[in-house]
This record gives sequence, structure tokens and C-alpha cells, in this order.
Amino acid sequence: MPHSRGPQRPNNSKAEPRFSSPYLSDFLGGKVHLICPKCGIQRRYDASMLLAKVGDYVLPDLLTRIALAEGCPRVGDKDDRCNLHYDIEKMYEQRSAKHGQ
Ligand SMILES: [Zn+2]
Repeated sequence: MPHSRGPQRPNNSKAEPRFSSPYLSDFLGGKVHLICPKCGIQRRYDASMLLAKVGDYVLPDLLTRIALAEGCPRVGDKDDRCNLHYDIEKMYEQRSAKHGQ
């Protein structure tokens, strides 16, 4: 799935294989599920709202931005890394089984 728009690159980003990573826009119409067991953060975002807010990023880049926005205390901590991650199964699940709400 080629993305015609260029990737929005935060200047601290390292070279990532962007083409293989899903973009936020791939989940439009669904929810973005996030969990950080370490910090006790559990979030559910509307993908389209999130996109309007922060822009279309690949999921790994987006994760850092959300963690920062949520005030996760372990963002950028190299020794005790934040464990924020996507509940990717749920996100793909909802994509295939779309139910209105
Ligand atoms: Zn965390």
C-alpha cells in the first residue's frame, strides 16, 4: 500500500523502515488502543481524531508522541523504558469486524 503523502518526520526520528510500518491513516474509522502496563496508562483514541490532532505518522513514531502527550514518566528513559504499546490485535480486529457505535 503506497502512501503518496510524504512521511512527517519528527527531527529526532531515526531511520526506520517506514514502508513496512502501518500509518495512523490505515486505521481510520477505528480506534487506536494503547497500553502502558508500567505506568498504568490505558487509552483508546479515535483514529480520525488523532490524525486531525497530530497528523499521519507511522505507528512507532506516533507512539512516542502519544506517550509524551500522556505524560508517561518513562518516555526517553533508557534504563527503565516506557512500555507503552499498541493493542495491535484489537486494532486489527476492529478493522475487519466494523460495527457502528
Ligand atoms: Zn509508560
